[in-house]
Amino acid sequence: CVRKPFDNEAMVDFTVPESRQAFPAAIAMVRSRLGRTYPLWIDGKDVETPDTIATRNPARQDEVIGHVCQAGVEEVEAAIAAARTQQKAWARLPASQRADCLRKAAGICRERIVELSAWQVLEVGKQWDQAYADVAEAIDFLDYYANEAERLAAPRTEASLPGESNRLAYRPKGLVAVIAPWNFPFAISVGMCAAALVTGNAVLYKPSSLSSVVGYGLKEVFQAAGIPGGVFNYLPGRSSVMGDHLVGHKDIHGIAFTGSMEVGLHIIKTAAVPAPGQAHVKRVIAEMGGKNAIVIDDDAELDEAVAGTLYSAFGFQGQKCSACSRVIVLDGVCDRFVPRLVAAARSVKIGPAEDSSNVMGPVIDPKQQRNVNQYVELAHTEGNVLLMHTAPQPLWAEGCYVPLTIVEGITPQHRLAQEEIFGPVLSVMRAKDFDQAMDWANSTQFALTAGLYSRSPARIERFKQEMEAGNLYINRGTTGALVHRQPFGGFKLSGVGSKAGGPDYLLQFVDPVNTTENT
Ligand code: GLU
Repeated sequence: CVRKPFDNEAMVDFTVPESRQAFPAAIAMVRSRLGRTYPLWIDGKDVETPDTIATRNPARQDEVIGHVCQAGVEEVEAAIAAARTQQKAWARLPASQRADCLRKAAGICRERIVELSAWQVLEVGKQWDQAYADVAEAIDFLDYYANEAERLAAPRTEASLPGESNRLAYRPKGLVAVIAPWNFPFAISVGMCAAALVTGNAVLYKPSSLSSVVGYGLKEVFQAAGIPGGVFNYLPGRSSVMGDHLVGHKDIHGIAFTGSMEVGLHIIKTAAVPAPGQAHVKRVIAEMGGKNAIVIDDDAELDEAVAGTLYSAFGFQGQKCSACSRVIVLDGVCDRFVPRLVAAARSVKIGPAEDSSNVMGPVIDPKQQRNVNQYVELAHTEGNVLLMHTAPQPLWAEGCYVPLTIVEGITPQHRLAQEEIFGPVLSVMRAKDFDQAMDWANSTQFALTAGLYSRSPARIERFKQEMEAGNLYINRGTTGALVHRQPFGGFKLSGVGSKAGGPDYLLQFVDPVNTTENT
């Protein structure tokens, strides 16, 4: 593998006939492989368990994607024992050798990109282009962290004086539990695992139980890339059975988590208590929720603002922690912006992701469907519902559909303005002026992403200074952060840890050691 300056993987171009035709073929191929049983992978060996969970196509609940074996406490113990043994040799390798494994994994993902995307289309209901973007992001994480690991390993000579040599080096922490979400089932999993691995740690990877077959793809890719068994372990399991055991285990040094605020805070609490025999403080990286706003200034370019808000709010059914769920519109432009937004939203075609003419699909599972529907009901009591746009029958009955909903008349004291919904429900908040818009934008416990459409340099500057969010977007939507260009992550109750895909990320997986030698 050759070290190249980092460049983001290109997005798919469906004007190219081969790209267009590749998807239905890959989906058909994946469909011919549905219903298999997926073992755990511990210490380089397949491990079957009697307990399995079936994952299902959100658009067709009777279609089982796969039956996934579930780790219990015993399997967690076996994986941790293997990881402890295997990690030592892995940590001793030169960083460039581990980096090359990541580059090889990136190459494998590139070759399999359409097939890996097709699994997501069926298992989590992701639209073709977005599934492709997810795998492309995974490739970016692999290439970027490979380069970053080599950068960190390079000796720093500038701090040495004649007769004194100083060396700041980074040692792996040891064992890292990666607890991954279903919404970016490949990219975020790969990102967290790759960062831990390339810095010399062993990984216990627990995919979401809703996307564990996509998660199995990591096992295949890392195995083929030469990551030794035991260094990477595929460990799906029920949170209620093995979650706390894994997080609380004395031999776990770091936990990389992406998911809900409730689970993230629980992990932080559990990890803070040292288990008997544990002689270190666990490092927790937790990327949690958002309640992201886009502010529409009264001089905004409305065509852009409508398209950006629409995609940010309803792309992948609003199931991104970066999604826009509040659009705060200045009074002066509200009556022009909102009807256009609603008209555009009404034109969104809803149906299964495998049909590329559908722009929005079902939400992930019946539980999330019930949850989102409760917020749709709440919209009727808290505000004035402008649009409830649904998939046609009989699709509606087959999958976990919820209506694309736009509700106006929402102010910060409403629950719709405060609680993360993780679905296609957008609140319109009419602000009397820019001061109020900024106050409202900052009125939640979260600080993940935020957008502003404006042509006023002074207001853009104020937004940059005062908006509380980890990722600020001016005159564009709030989703789709790219590795390296837009390092991603928030603060307040949106999470702790430095940004994924940014220059500080790997530092969370290592302990810095400085050595001074008089020569
Ligand atoms: N990084 C993704 C984006 O910028 C969001 C990640 C998430 O939803 O967890 O859209």
